[in-house]
Amino acid sequence: MVRELTHFIGGQHVAGTSGRFSDVFDPNTGLVQARVPLASTAEVEAAIANAAEAQLVWGAWNPQRRARVLLKFLDLIAKDMDSLARLLSSEHGKTVADARGDIQRGVEVIEFAVGAPHLLKGEYSVGAGTGIDVYSMRQPLGVVAGITPFNFPAMIPLWKMGPALAAGNSFILKPSERDPSVPLRIAELFLEAGLPAGVLNVVNGDKAAVDALLTDERVMAIGFVGSTPIAQYIYQTAAAHGKRAQCFGGAKNHMIVMPDADLDQVADALMGAGYGSAGERCMAISVAVPVGAETGDALAAKLAERVAHLTVGHSLDDAADYGPLINRDAVTRVSAAIQAGIDAGATLLADGRGHTVAGYENGFFLGPTLFDHVRTDMELYREEIFGPVLIITRADTYEDALALASDHKYGNGVSIFTRDGDTARDFAARVNVGMVGVNVPIPVPIAYHTFGGWKKSGFGDLNQHGPDSFRFYTKTKTVTSRWPSGIKEGASFVMPLMLE
Ligand code: NAD
Repeated sequence: MVRELTHFIGGQHVAGTSGRFSDVFDPNTGLVQARVPLASTAEVEAAIANAAEAQLVWGAWNPQRRARVLLKFLDLIAKDMDSLARLLSSEHGKTVADARGDIQRGVEVIEFAVGAPHLLKGEYSVGAGTGIDVYSMRQPLGVVAGITPFNFPAMIPLWKMGPALAAGNSFILKPSERDPSVPLRIAELFLEAGLPAGVLNVVNGDKAAVDALLTDERVMAIGFVGSTPIAQYIYQTAAAHGKRAQCFGGAKNHMIVMPDADLDQVADALMGAGYGSAGERCMAISVAVPVGAETGDALAAKLAERVAHLTVGHSLDDAADYGPLINRDAVTRVSAAIQAGIDAGATLLADGRGHTVAGYENGFFLGPTLFDHVRTDMELYREEIFGPVLIITRADTYEDALALASDHKYGNGVSIFTRDGDTARDFAARVNVGMVGVNVPIPVPIAYHTFGGWKKSGFGDLNQHGPDSFRFYTKTKTVTSRWPSGIKEGASFVMPLMLE
């Protein structure tokens, strides 16, 4: 039985009226399990109108009252964690344990956003001139929108909506059409937590829905996460329509392995960081960079040995290290990238193509693939693959390794494994990448710091979560006031100065 999903507008489930739908698969079986409506411009406009009206009420609530809704939501989502993780796993294909992590990392940003009363405080200067005080206040933007990718269907929507809502905005989410059920459930939970109807809306759809959000003048800001070409398109189109935009794109994250590193620790870290979630993470490590031939040979041997023991299985199977990819297209695309690597002359140490899981022969599975001796001119090195493919690109020296990560067009995350503090500190300071791990393979910053890549991994000025998120979702107003009001200076025709 194929379920028919809805939008969530004005506090209720609303059936699609465009007549266009997209299939939602169970990637374990390859079967269609639901179909999701793709919104028309008119449907998006209705959601925006609803959100604009609801924002007038929500934005006038005091910040602490708004934060209490977030607190209640935290309570509800904690109770719902098990079923939500299974729902996420069954649409995305990541294991249930990994799905819990997806939700939990989003929850942590809601916890951070509960601090809105503090985070929204402005600045105050007493006595900036005679009787003059200057203060600033942070005010909500109004209606803001988030456009999110398939690979974190809970975490990234929560990263966006938490700070946006806490700051007093209303929010329209356009989640990935490939796994939209978890975002819809999150919207239900917020309503149950006491969020006024219309403050949080989920509009399902594709380019048509996105374009409607990008061009409507009532939408004041766009937060996007997804692939780089779309990130660039969204950034340019949003800017052309006078909107604030932060757009995060693809990645090719390197791990530098110094000769003094503990290679067993490194190899274990690379299993999780390279193959966890079938490599469908923007912070996955896809390039291992051992420094020196000896380190390279030893690391390649350890990785090949471990890869042979990974378990690929049904995402609801607790024994699986990772599950299927999101859809058949992804399997085809990653398989083609593997073939291109072979054709270009890289050394294939493990080939995951053609991997099947007994009982689920039509699932979107790929086994772990490992390449050694990948050169920087190969597509395998230059492009994001977004699958369970780890490559080894060897460097002769530390400086060469540093230059590799710094010169790559993507700059999302990078990691160095070493026991030498001098090297680690130098690396963190000099590498041209937005998020750095030192003996940490996936350096996703904690909720109260900010997340954002550089170069082709991020467009816009402010990062996600942490203090930046409140700056992104608010505008600053600055007030200059004079009390007592009776000071008489006579008419003055020069630029006001505060000399005394
Ligand atoms: P995607 O770019 O295909 O889709 C992202 C969103 O954009 C979806 O909501 C989709 O419906 C919409 N979209 C797709 N095509 C569009 C078009 N032509 N016009 C307007 N909107 C369009 O990305 P994806 O496949 O869902 O996600 C995987 C990508 O996201 C990878 O490249 C990954 O690295 C990246 N990602 C980046 C981060 C980060 O923080 N930098 C985090 C997670 C994922």
